[in-house]
Amino acid sequence: MTIRFKLTTTLIAIILVANSLLSFITLLYLSRVWMGEVQTRVRRNLNAARAAYCNHLDVMGALLRATARDRDLLSVLKQKKHSELEAMSRNLTGPDGMDFVLLLDPAGKVISRSGGKRAGDDLSADPLVAGVLRDRKNASGTVVFSRERLSAEGSNLAERAAIQVIPTEAARPTKDTLRTEGMVAAAAVPVFDDRGQMQAVLYGGDLLNRRYEIVDSIKRQVFRDEVYRGDEIGTVTIFLGDLRISTNVKTEDGARAVGTQLSVPVCEEVLDRGGVWAAPAFVVNNWYITAYEPIRDPAGRIIGVLYVGLLQAPFSHQLNVISGVVVTLVVLATLASLALLIVATELVLRPIRHVVAMSQKVIGGDLSARVGIRPPGEMGVLCRAVDSMAHAVEERAELLEQATRQQIGRSEQLASVGRLAAGVAHEINNPLTGVLAFADLLREKENMDHQDLEDLELIIRETKRAREIVKGLLDFARETPQVKSLLNINELVRQTILLLGKRDAFQNIQIVEVLAESLPHILGDKNQLQQVLVNLSLNACEAMPRGGTLMLATSSTDGRIVIEVTDTGSGIRREHLDKIFEPFFTTKPVGKGTGLGLSVSYGIIQQHGGTLEVESQEGKGTTFKVVLPAS
Ligand code: ADP
Ligand code: MG
Repeated sequence: MTIRFKLTTTLIAIILVANSLLSFITLLYLSRVWMGEVQTRVRRNLNAARAAYCNHLDVMGALLRATARDRDLLSVLKQKKHSELEAMSRNLTGPDGMDFVLLLDPAGKVISRSGGKRAGDDLSADPLVAGVLRDRKNASGTVVFSRERLSAEGSNLAERAAIQVIPTEAARPTKDTLRTEGMVAAAAVPVFDDRGQMQAVLYGGDLLNRRYEIVDSIKRQVFRDEVYRGDEIGTVTIFLGDLRISTNVKTEDGARAVGTQLSVPVCEEVLDRGGVWAAPAFVVNNWYITAYEPIRDPAGRIIGVLYVGLLQAPFSHQLNVISGVVVTLVVLATLASLALLIVATELVLRPIRHVVAMSQKVIGGDLSARVGIRPPGEMGVLCRAVDSMAHAVEERAELLEQATRQQIGRSEQLASVGRLAAGVAHEINNPLTGVLAFADLLREKENMDHQDLEDLELIIRETKRAREIVKGLLDFARETPQVKSLLNINELVRQTILLLGKRDAFQNIQIVEVLAESLPHILGDKNQLQQVLVNLSLNACEAMPRGGTLMLATSSTDGRIVIEVTDTGSGIRREHLDKIFEPFFTTKPVGKGTGLGLSVSYGIIQQHGGTLEVESQEGKGTTFKVVLPAS
């Protein structure tokens, strides 16, 4: 997984989760607030509907009061002209007037009625009549009339009141299929004579069953006939008990949905407990946001329900539009964040890509490659660090290359000199042997004077020296073959010291041996390695002409054996340090040094897979360190 992938997926996840959460909460909150608003509106509409209904009662009362104050009424009453009374009450009824009007005597007996000839029946038990007789004041309210009472007030009324119950699953189960009671909005006013004596009671009412002007006018007043896609937004219904008796809710075929019933939960809340029920509900064939409240008779008994409902569709449509806007905004915001994210990761990762490209170049061998860019912040620090690292690597590689070049040069030099030396040595070795042999023979001759003998001795000495040089050359050229065997280095050191100690040159020199116990053996040519130790020791000795200490020490570290040859002599001058291993380099006077000792030793140690190093301090002494692999 790339950093980009991790970074992007993590951030995308965060953005998506945050935004979905945000939109979810916003939508939830929005719909709550929205629903609350609509609910409040419906409750307000319900209040307005109640006010409109009460207004209807008031208008009815006002009409009756105006009639009650009519002087003619009193005189007709006194003269008991029944036919005129009937005519007067009929004036108040009619297509636009009340459904029925009654005139009662102060005892509550019917004097005349608009709906028929029948008179004399006692209506003092009617709650409105009782109220007027008791309080001598106007009374109005909603009352329930039985079928008989309705027929008395007009044959058409009983017929209009009878409603077929349309059974629905949500309603309370009922056995009756036909309801014949009527709900009546009624008002009663007292009729006083000049002396303030109550002469009669004027009683008028509207049968609400299937009387649609009332619900329609309430609807007009409350909802102003708003329409949504052909459906009326506002609906008003009056229930008698749980039965819909007057409504502008329409069924599928456009008829008024009278005869349907309240659902059980509404019945329980409103009819049984007298509360207000406000919630979305499925009414007849549509979802409405509804509010129901009880209608009470003058005695306070719950006799029906007033309902208003707002078609939910337009509101949910608005809510959907707003939700759509919110979701679109959130989606846009998400897309914008994602775009920003991509740009941001690009900005963050660009330097990393540069670093990767640069390091690939370096791996490919281009040590001069650099990141180059310096973005602000930590990335800039990183780029700078990587660049300086590359710089250091380049420098070191250059140094290494120089050193290798020198090394190769030296090896080539050694090889060519070696070949030359070997050729020369071979050629010179035989004549020298001849010269020595004949010089020895000459010494045997008798008639030699002293001078001759001295000259001969010089010849022999110088020839031997020449042979030494030739031998050194042959060693250098490594013409003598290697004979390898397992060697005890400590033993070798002891033998070397024994050998050297006998020499005159070592008279003033104290030889110290510091030998590590139980050293591992090494596989090597005994003579050659001894020659190395002799060479180093002789050099040390020659560096200490006035005496000193020569120390030979052995030790071992992780599979390697170290031999150190330390003297307290003159030391090596700094500028000579990298020349001393070159063949024929010597600081010694002619005839004293050949300059071959160290280069021969170097070659031998190298052939044994080891190293020869030097550490020296001018005027204090020198240490040569031979490191050989243990077998
Ligand atoms: P030679 O001994 O014939 O000069 P070497 O190869 O043995 O040739 O040594 C080369 C030179 O290294 C010497 O001439 C001397 O200057 C220096 N050198 C070697 N060993 C020592 C030492 N132990 N102390 C001081 N100088 C030394
Ligand atoms: Mg030497």
